[in-house]
Amino acid sequence: MTESSLAAGPLQIFYTVSFPEAQAHYVDIEMDIKGLAQNQLTLKMPVWTPGSYLVREYAKNVESFTAEHNGKAVNVTKTRKNAWQIATQGLTSVKVKYRVYGNEISVRTNFIDASHGFLSPAGTFIYPDGRLNLPSTIHIKPYKNWDKVSTSLASVNNDAFTVTAPNYDILFDSPIEVGNQDIFGFDAAGVKYEVAMYGGGNYDKDRLKKDMTKIIEEETAIFGENPNKRYVFIVHNYQRGGGGLEHLSSTVLGASRDGYATESGYLGFLSLVAHEHFHLWNVKRLRPIALGPFDYDNENYTTNLWIAEGFTAYYDNLIVRRAQLNPVESYLKELTADMGTMDNTPGTRVQPLSQSSYDAWIKGYRPDENSINTGISYYTKGSIIGMLLDLEIINDTKGAKSLDDVMRYMYNEYYKTKKRGYTDAEFKAGLEKFAGKNLDDFYKKYINGVDPVNYDQYLGYAGYHVVNDLEGSNNPTLGATYVNAAGHVRVATVLRGTAAWKDGINVYDEITAIDGAEVHDPKTMLDGKKVADKISVSIIRDGLPMTIPVTLLRNTQVRYRIESLPNVTPQQMTVRNKWLKIQ
Ligand SMILES: [Zn+2]
Repeated sequence: MTESSLAAGPLQIFYTVSFPEAQAHYVDIEMDIKGLAQNQLTLKMPVWTPGSYLVREYAKNVESFTAEHNGKAVNVTKTRKNAWQIATQGLTSVKVKYRVYGNEISVRTNFIDASHGFLSPAGTFIYPDGRLNLPSTIHIKPYKNWDKVSTSLASVNNDAFTVTAPNYDILFDSPIEVGNQDIFGFDAAGVKYEVAMYGGGNYDKDRLKKDMTKIIEEETAIFGENPNKRYVFIVHNYQRGGGGLEHLSSTVLGASRDGYATESGYLGFLSLVAHEHFHLWNVKRLRPIALGPFDYDNENYTTNLWIAEGFTAYYDNLIVRRAQLNPVESYLKELTADMGTMDNTPGTRVQPLSQSSYDAWIKGYRPDENSINTGISYYTKGSIIGMLLDLEIINDTKGAKSLDDVMRYMYNEYYKTKKRGYTDAEFKAGLEKFAGKNLDDFYKKYINGVDPVNYDQYLGYAGYHVVNDLEGSNNPTLGATYVNAAGHVRVATVLRGTAAWKDGINVYDEITAIDGAEVHDPKTMLDGKKVADKISVSIIRDGLPMTIPVTLLRNTQVRYRIESLPNVTPQQMTVRNKWLKIQ
């Protein structure tokens, strides 16, 4: 219990958000709190934002924190990295002021400059400790000529610049874009959609409306309902942009402003739309039990991000395929890219998928030069696991059911009926219900173990098999990756088990010569060498030149292709057509 949770009366909270120094990346917040009847009030800022599993320490951007009552200063004591205690004895109201610096371009951090203000609410609004259930009202005063606000929060009295949140979980889940963004809308699956484009770009609005509608309809059909009345896509277009963050009734997408005109760039954007929008069900509503109600002070651990993120990553490209926007061959190519990425990551044989999820906070979101050897992304492997399970269910039911049925069942059973998240065992039971078999062995091998995936078994159900184009090749390699800056070849990663690993080439070594011949390009430095050759690698390590003897080993990296089997049976064709919605 905290002192503020002892408060008797309801607090009324009103924020004023202004941008007097937007050009210097600041947003100014005033928080008016009325209805106080307590000696002390602790105000807190979340340390992380849901959907992005890293403690970001948002409070580090807060400055000039003061409190006053009728113009008279009220004492403030900092009591935790993200907490301020206000001496409210004898007061019924207090005005708190602070500024937040925001100059990090990402979908989960504030960014403010003269052209727009993007507010990630968890990093912007402080809340009364223990009172996440309280509603609040936010009035926004734009900078200079800014004239629009885009957010899923409801406006008050039709004033677009005044919005309200019924509680803090919803406020923290509702990003706000303020500026001169290009806004367009459309209706899909009975919901009003709004797209707010910041940063310009060569997008075709009519084409986007048409294709986004198809994606939304495909996804709504999986879950059987679209629970929002209104949904907002906030899109940040940059020279090179990417990434996305899901929310309950909105999402923030990063895109490249010139990327819409190429086929691959456009499909990539649609896949991002499909991914973040799919999350409005998977993770925002159908969720692992640890992900809500949230602890905004600490890490929230779950072993299920391979479902929340991995399955969403599986569905993103698949939905674009099913909407008939991506040809089968090109979809299969994307799948093989994921399979290759996974199998070329030595960490996939070290870290089980459930642990990749659990340790997202310290590993996935904090990668270092050795991450490739110690871990596997729950996006990459989770998406492959989603594919295996989908194929398993479609095959077992002769095309009657698929992973879609599991998702819809789990959504109805846990989000709608039980109104809580699912446990590991409950999701497994949901999968088993539709696969019609016990998945103990599957979980032992692929979720809690590190067995190599038997692709051919599962793709075989759909009459496909995998070909590794590098199988049997006898090319030598050091087994490192490099950064090549102006002809200086520096080692970026050393892959576990390779020649570089065994013979002691290190990350950050600069490779200057091989067998006395100067090295300026890692692509050609082994020209003329063979597997088992003993070579001398001259390096500079920490400023000191040295030579390291290395025995070259065979390159064991894979490059996959999915091919149709020569004779496809009717059952295999049924599975294939259902899986890829081939019409
Ligand atoms: Zn995601």
